[in-house]
Amino acid sequence: MNRIGRSSQNDFQIRHDSISRFHCEVEVKEHGMLVRDLDSSNGDFVGEEQIAKADLTGGQFLRLGDVRVEVQAAPEPPDPESLPKCVNHPDYPASMKCAQCGRLLCGPCIHILKLAGDRTHKLCPACSGHCEPLAGMNRHQKGLLGNLMGKLFKC
Ligand SMILES: [Zn+2]
Ligand SMILES: [Zn+2]
Repeated sequence: MNRIGRSSQNDFQIRHDSISRFHCEVEVKEHGMLVRDLDSSNGDFVGEEQIAKADLTGGQFLRLGDVRVEVQAAPEPPDPESLPKCVNHPDYPASMKCAQCGRLLCGPCIHILKLAGDRTHKLCPACSGHCEPLAGMNRHQKGLLGNLMGKLFKC
């Protein structure tokens, strides 16, 4: 559950006089979001209709007080088929990339080398180059709400 409101204690803060400290809460669902009013003073609207609770999908507009929010389509979850695969294990998704030879590798393939008093080195099993985690792994849930709550418009 994610809260939206004027207070910085919310997951998604909107600083505007017409927004209550805790205005509404949002449940991110597979194809959009469920919005529930938290007894806000100025209410939540979809179109002209004031709602206590509503399901929203991408392309709709939600109005919180005098602030309009465009709801974005939920980002597609990555297709497991399109994820890069480990060069040694075609069934495993790659999580690291060798900075030297560019090989894509899964966790178990990486050689971990820890020298006393030194940081851990993650080494490529083919060329002993340093491996870096692939970008785009471990995205945070709050990022998802940020993606869904698109542009803000003052009415
Ligand atoms: Zn390498
Ligand atoms: Zn592997």
